[in-house]
Amino acid sequence: MSDRAESESRKLLGRLRDTMAEEAAGQERLDKITHLTADSMGTEVCSIYLFRDENTLELCATQGLNPDAVHETRMKLGEGLVGRVARSGKVINTADAPSEAGFRYMPETGEEVFSSFLGVPIQRLGEKLGVLVVQSREAREFTADEVYAIEVVAMVLAEMAELGAFVGEGAALTRRHTQPVLLRGTTGQEGTAEGHVWLHEPRVVVTNLVADDPARERERLQQAVETLRVSVDELLAGASGDADQVQVLEAYRMFANSKGWMRRMEEDIARGLSAEAAVEKEQSAARARMSQVTDAYLRERLQDLDDLSNRLLRILTGQGNATGSEMPADPILVARNIGPGELLEYGRKLRGIVLEEGSVGSHAAIVARALAIPLVIHAPRVTNEALNGDHIMVDGDQGIAHLRPDDTVVTAFRDKIAMQEKALERYASIRDRPAMSACGTRVTLLMNAGLMADLPSLEGSGAEGVGLFRTELQFLVRNQMPRRTELADIYARVIDAAKGKRVVFRTLDIGSDKVLPYMKPNDEPNPALGWRAIRVGLDKPGVMRMQLQALIRAANGQALSIMFPFIAQYDEFRLARVEVDKAIAREKRLGHKIPSKLEIGAMLETPSLAYASRKFFEEVEFLSIGGNDLKQFFFAADRENERVRRRYDTLNVSFLSFLEGIVQRCEETGTPLSFCGEDAGRPIEALCLAAIGLRTLSMRPASIGPVKSLLIRCRLDEVRAVIHDARDRGEQSVRPAVMDYLQNLP
Ligand code: PEP
Ligand code: MG
Repeated sequence: MSDRAESESRKLLGRLRDTMAEEAAGQERLDKITHLTADSMGTEVCSIYLFRDENTLELCATQGLNPDAVHETRMKLGEGLVGRVARSGKVINTADAPSEAGFRYMPETGEEVFSSFLGVPIQRLGEKLGVLVVQSREAREFTADEVYAIEVVAMVLAEMAELGAFVGEGAALTRRHTQPVLLRGTTGQEGTAEGHVWLHEPRVVVTNLVADDPARERERLQQAVETLRVSVDELLAGASGDADQVQVLEAYRMFANSKGWMRRMEEDIARGLSAEAAVEKEQSAARARMSQVTDAYLRERLQDLDDLSNRLLRILTGQGNATGSEMPADPILVARNIGPGELLEYGRKLRGIVLEEGSVGSHAAIVARALAIPLVIHAPRVTNEALNGDHIMVDGDQGIAHLRPDDTVVTAFRDKIAMQEKALERYASIRDRPAMSACGTRVTLLMNAGLMADLPSLEGSGAEGVGLFRTELQFLVRNQMPRRTELADIYARVIDAAKGKRVVFRTLDIGSDKVLPYMKPNDEPNPALGWRAIRVGLDKPGVMRMQLQALIRAANGQALSIMFPFIAQYDEFRLARVEVDKAIAREKRLGHKIPSKLEIGAMLETPSLAYASRKFFEEVEFLSIGGNDLKQFFFAADRENERVRRRYDTLNVSFLSFLEGIVQRCEETGTPLSFCGEDAGRPIEALCLAAIGLRTLSMRPASIGPVKSLLIRCRLDEVRAVIHDARDRGEQSVRPAVMDYLQNLP
């Protein structure tokens, strides 16, 4: 880059800054900027197009085109060269615009006389705001220096827009972050909530975009990068053992030492940007690339670069996570993603959570479910759009969130919440009633748990005990393997909190989607069918032995129920049982109290176990159907795969017949049987399970009310007849028939 180009660019940026500092209306500023830019670039035309809605760009200011076209000329995303720049986020630089693919002639602008065209996207941190264009009569391609210069101007424009410099009349000049936005994501946890945004990672605000003294800015940048390098090295030194963390930090280190990254930022500074603006410009470019790459590895690396840029900006601006703003009383957490530990720290304070990323099976989602906090995941752009304190409504049932909702949405949403609250009151009124169907069949309703945070629900929900305590959650939310004493302490508190009600502890169920952050991940082609749960427990019994010991100590002479996950054949149960016997003998030898009553059960999660020998059914003290896994194996449809997971109905006659067979086998041998998959908490599914003979259902605490309320109203013998009739008629699923029956209930 020539010295002249640098000094021209600095001059232009200096004048832009002065424009920004002057008291002026948004339109006036835009007009001035087009004038200054055309003048500085030596082009006849400079125009600014901004989005007036998600799909439409509007000419908002121009130097050189017909002034009457301002706020009149509009184009759709992808339409014409300007629309193409906006859609692709890429520069178009052509000497002969009219012969360029996609060129669209706009007669009202008078642009037909301009042959060369240079359009660059105006975007901020991956968000598209508009397009900046220069045009000239002379047919020539713009030089790399010129392209670069105009990109820097576009960046400054984007930042100025963020700071509210171009507010004026009309949709294209509305203040940013003031419009209602509907964010469409995916359900992570059902439920609705209204509150105000609390950003997990508050945005860094850069106000000094332009700087006069490049040497000083370069030095500031170098110092900040040095601080960053040192802190990454320190983190690396302290991260021994954790392969994932080390990998991320290595990537950080690679970027922090990357000459290309540094060089680009130094060039931006030479052009007149401040150190902060230079970092943000590179960050924006990385985000723009991120939205286009599909390769998972590359995306992750760009994500690393994004994280690193944030750290660097915090060092440069001195803005930490503590921005001085106070958490609202009704916080809805907004974040790109969040770890389970961090989520637990917020705890029940949160009314709702909206994440840009995340997945249904992620640990954060597990924690959100345990805390019964409505969660929407995959909500695009939410961290760009939301500001701390914004009004937001979260609809976890539909997987959407309304940011800054307008009055009609607020009213409709509040109606929905009120209806749900009424239903909650109804459930509270039947809380202490037993779940007895209209035909007099008693069904036991238990709750699923996994965290201490779940236990207050034991009383509040009316659950008669804990049918499934997922012990892996205690392992998942930590950074290192918990110690035996720690576990014994937690289990003892769980037993205490249950106040004599039965708690079924399931031993560690890891592998598949549940990967411990501190254990070496297994690279398996198909983890759901891989080395998981009891298979790990038997092959590497150290952790299971420690867990059994902790459970026996926690029971401290009281009754204890232990359940082994994922038993696929008799032998696995027998061997696991031997481990319990050994643990009891050892504890006795050590002088610890042994449980007054010990029940050892298994989860039936693979079809194979339904056909185990009669002897197995006689020996196992209880069985619990893990419907989530059982269903995925029965239909060969991955429970984590959004494309297929809802494809097969739980009320499909094949699955119900299969479950009926299990009920019959258990009746023959008198083996207590329960069902603890998610379907137990869905009222219609629960009703059908009870109708085919299941007498114990374990579910999320929030489901107990709705399930009980439906059971009380129905005669199970009638539902059973409806199911059998539908099956005899050749229906694929009994759902329509059962829905019909429910509609005609008195
Ligand atoms: C199940 O598979 O149904 C179950 C209850 O266990 P998890 O969801 O923890 O695999
Ligand atoms: Mg399971």
